[in-house]
Parts: sequence; C-alpha cells; structure tokens
Amino acid sequence: LRLVVPKETFPGERRVALDPSVAGRFAKLGAEVQVERSAGKSSHFSDVQYEEASASLFDDAAQAMSAADVVVKVQPPTLEEVERLHEGAVLLGFLAPHRNPELVKRLRDKKITSFAFELLPRISRAQSMDALSSQASIAGYKVALMAAELASFFFPMLTTAAGTIRPAKVVVVGAGVAGLQAIATCKRLGAMVEAYDIRAAAKEQVESLGAKLIDTGVDASGQGGYARELTKEEIAKQAEVLARHIAAASAVITTAAIPGRAAPKIVTKAMVEGMKAGSVIVDLAAESGGNCELTEPGKTIEYNDVIIHGPLNVPSMIPVHASETYSKNVFNFLSPFVKDGQLTLDWNDEVVIKSCLTHDGAIRHEPTRKAVG
Ligand code: NAD
Repeated sequence: LRLVVPKETFPGERRVALDPSVAGRFAKLGAEVQVERSAGKSSHFSDVQYEEASASLFDDAAQAMSAADVVVKVQPPTLEEVERLHEGAVLLGFLAPHRNPELVKRLRDKKITSFAFELLPRISRAQSMDALSSQASIAGYKVALMAAELASFFFPMLTTAAGTIRPAKVVVVGAGVAGLQAIATCKRLGAMVEAYDIRAAAKEQVESLGAKLIDTGVDASGQGGYARELTKEEIAKQAEVLARHIAAASAVITTAAIPGRAAPKIVTKAMVEGMKAGSVIVDLAAESGGNCELTEPGKTIEYNDVIIHGPLNVPSMIPVHASETYSKNVFNFLSPFVKDGQLTLDWNDEVVIKSCLTHDGAIRHEPTRKAVG
C-alpha cells in the first residue's frame, strides 16, 4: 500500500493530512508512506520527523501521485491533481461535492474511489473518524477568541477599585459542534452566554455547558440530527425574538449551517443596526456565504459602529492540533482495512458505503449524482 501525502496547495491552507505520528502508525501497519517535502512545514512538522517515523519524502508530486494507491488530503484536489491519479486509486479528504461538480465528474470519469469526510455518517462508531466534527470544534474555539479580541468590552466580570464591570453577554447562533465549543470557550473567558439553535435537542447540550438557550418557539429538527430549512413564518418569529437578545450582546458568534447548502441568513441588517456600539459579530458561516446579511467572506468590516468579521478556513489557523486531529480521523477511517500492508475496503461497511463519493466510474452519493447529472 503506497500512501501518499501531497503538500496542500489551496491558498492559505496550513494543515497537512497526516502528521508524523500517524504516518508512523501507518508505516507500522506495513504501508509505504510517502510525504511531499515540506508538506508539514506550515503545521510545524519537519521533514526529519516524517523520516524518523519511517515515511519517505518526495519532491515530484506528479510522479508520486501517479504511483499512489491511496492519496490523503485536507482540501479538495485540483482537477490537475486528479489527472495525476491512476484509475482505481483511493482518495480521502474534504471534497465539498456540492461546491465542486467538475471535480466530482472528473473523479467519476477517472474511476477514482473517492471518500468525502462531508459524507461520513454521524453514527457513534464513526465519531473517531469525524473530521467535520474535529475541525468544527477547533473553529468554534478560535472564533470565540476572535470575538473576545475584537469586542470593545471585557468578557469576564471584573471587580476593581474603579468599580465593577459586568460580564459580557455573548450570543452564539447555531449550537452544533462549532457552536458548542464557542460556548464553552466564551464561558471559560467569563462571559454570560446565550445560544440559539433550531434543533430542539440543542437545549440540553447548551445547558450542560452553563449557557442559556434562547427559546423562539420554532423547532426545525430535520433528518439525521441536522436542521431542516425553515418556512417564512418561522423565520419571522425567530428573527423577532433573536433581535432582542442580539441587541443586548457585546459579541455575536454565528455558526449555523445546513449541510450542502448556503448558510441561512439569520442576523439581518436591522438586527445589526440594533446592536451596541463597539460590539462584534464573528461569522464562522462566512465560508458558505455567512449567517449575517452584511458579512463579507474573508473580510472584517465596520457597520454602524459594529465590527463584522467573516473569517475563512478557521481550523487552519490552529494548524498543529487541526492536523493532529485530522490525521487521527484519517487513520481511524482507513486503518481497519489495512492488513499486511494491503488496503482491502469492506464494501458492506456502512461507513465505507455512505462516505463514498465516486467508485468504479459512478457517483455513489445519490444527491450529488442528481445534482451533477
Ligand atoms: P452543522 O455545522 O451542519 O450546523 C451547525 C448548527 O447550526 C446545527 O446545530 C444546526 O441545527 C444549526 N442551524 C441550522 N440552521 C439554523 C438556523 N436557521 N437557526 C439556528 N441554528 C441553525 O452541524 P454540526 O455541528 O456538524 O452537527 C449537527 C448535529 O449533528 C448536532 O446535533 C451534533 O451534535 C450532531 N453530531 C452527531 C455526531 C455523531 O453522533 N457521530 C457527530 C457530529 C455531530
């Protein structure tokens, strides 16, 4: 099994798909691990560490990828990178199929067996492979720090000789994996946290972190633990209650998402106009268009004395731990199928079936197949 780790080429990407420690674990299973020279540099893993873990280094990415049995990546490959793979090669990483129809077609036509972490079933057994969750958790922590940094207010309560400062109120919109970590981090910084999610199940999770759930009277639990899209009436009701809470906040952190779709617009221009001067919105959903109407993805703007920050690729800003956890997800996904240095996928395994995007000249994920045609 020739397992190849190319250097990420996506602009600004600092993660690597396999850290030296996990590269070593694959080598112990008999895999021949090949890592592009300096692939780990921006996540602070040196070439020497990879060599010490029994991986070999390569300079010619085109050549290494053309001989690869398995390629592991963080970001989706470029079309040019797919061209390098040989028929039947296995590819694992984030593939963002709904955003990359051309890539999906190319993977299908080149008969690549591709697995997308976005398609991994959210079942207990697959938790250790869940790269969406590991990276969302890192992003949630980081956006909380960004909010504390950009707000013109203290987060904790402070009792000083000059008087007492009340703790900041933070509103977290979307209490999924990222939102819950943002809540936990803001709590650790001493803020009073209120959270909002349309899934009824979020209440218990939010309260277990010592935060309060904002009840708008709208429940939109959808299939598989995800949210469904809301009706117009539900959106209006949600907005009215939410506006009151946002107006009282020093920071608003938005993380709401619907898989495979643009982010729902939740924080309106009118809500921003009602916010306190010096407050901040950090919009983690900027990547898929933003939860705030005014968010400009990748930019920090000021509107009506409120900072609106729309960071992109947030997990990459904590590259060591993001790469370490991602590598473990990769290992937990692939290693059960590696025996005596060979990869034998079990096509009866639910995780393999559901995570598969393309195989043997076909698009295996039905919604993508319908969208791509
Ligand atoms: P996500 O990133 O798709 O969405 C983030 C949050 O935004 C979700 O909680 C969603 O309900 C919320 N949201 C969507 N539209 C909204 C709106 N209009 N207003 C307010 N909130 C809105 O979700 P995620 O973080 O990847 O996880 C979603 C669910 O899956 C969670 O319940 C999580 O606990 C669960 N999960 C289960 C497993 C597992 O069992 N293996 C693993 C990971 C996540």
